[in-house]
Amino acid sequence: MLVVFSPKFNRLLHSKNWQAHLPYLTHSWRPSYSRIYILREIVGLDVPLICLSATCPKSFRNVLLSTIVLPMEHDITSFLDIAFILPLGCREADLIKTLKYVDDIELLTKMFWWAYQRAASTGLLDYVIDIVHSGLSVRHQEICLEGFRTGRTAILLGSSKISTGMNFPGVCRVIQYKCCDLTIPDFDQRRGRGARYPGEFSVSMIFVEPSMLEDHISVENPKSQDPGIIELIKSDECIEAIIQRCLENESWSRDPSFPCCNRCTPDLRPAREFQFIAEHWKEEWRTQWPSYGPKSLISDSGLEDNSLWLIWNGKML
Ligand SMILES: [Zn+2]
Repeated sequence: MLVVFSPKFNRLLHSKNWQAHLPYLTHSWRPSYSRIYILREIVGLDVPLICLSATCPKSFRNVLLSTIVLPMEHDITSFLDIAFILPLGCREADLIKTLKYVDDIELLTKMFWWAYQRAASTGLLDYVIDIVHSGLSVRHQEICLEGFRTGRTAILLGSSKISTGMNFPGVCRVIQYKCCDLTIPDFDQRRGRGARYPGEFSVSMIFVEPSMLEDHISVENPKSQDPGIIELIKSDECIEAIIQRCLENESWSRDPSFPCCNRCTPDLRPAREFQFIAEHWKEEWRTQWPSYGPKSLISDSGLEDNSLWLIWNGKML
């Protein structure tokens, strides 16, 4: 039997200790915390080790969470990938209570003003959107967290300021925008801000920036990133299966009747914002599709029905 006695070690074991139950070592851990992981490497997997933490697997928390991982399709600062949270023409009652995490404060602020203006152009009142991060005054943070708690604010944008231990009723959606430097335990904590109360259901989403999907970053060579996150965003496997494996929840098994992720249930994908791109008429189109013209794509009544206004190049008509 191995008995470890040290006041400092004791303190470590009584704080965040997911470092003891992850298969990957992550650069973001403090060195002293990493030693728990190393201890486990030394004693081996045959020695029973009891680990109690807030990131207990879902089976112990009994909540309903679906998870979506999507590569960004638009420029990061255009925010078009997440435009579905504020559909144009929506009413306040249509908004889904959403928490959005952005770890870059400058990008977070930019996103806030984008959302604020989009909400205003739709006729929504300004309190439906709010922002919280440690750079704002304590009073502002208190007011905006209370607004989100009571439901006055529907969409709260924040940084790691919205952390473990904060509970908001009715959160149905948690969005992580960019995943550079994110770890699986951090993401698990963040998505766990959704569906905190019995009977609630939440969808969590990670929008992956192109730089994280580059070929030179891999699970074997994750650079400074968490290998678990790299596996999560690059694999085709069930997202929940990867998370549970990273959290070493061996008892987890997929419930085929529950939509765990967008790889198992593609319909979970949110509606995307489309961009209309004007293209000048190309002569080769006439050769490729001799009997087609603009009216083959959309009829006059279709244009009116959909309130779409397209300007066709003169040569095409
Ligand atoms: Zn799945």
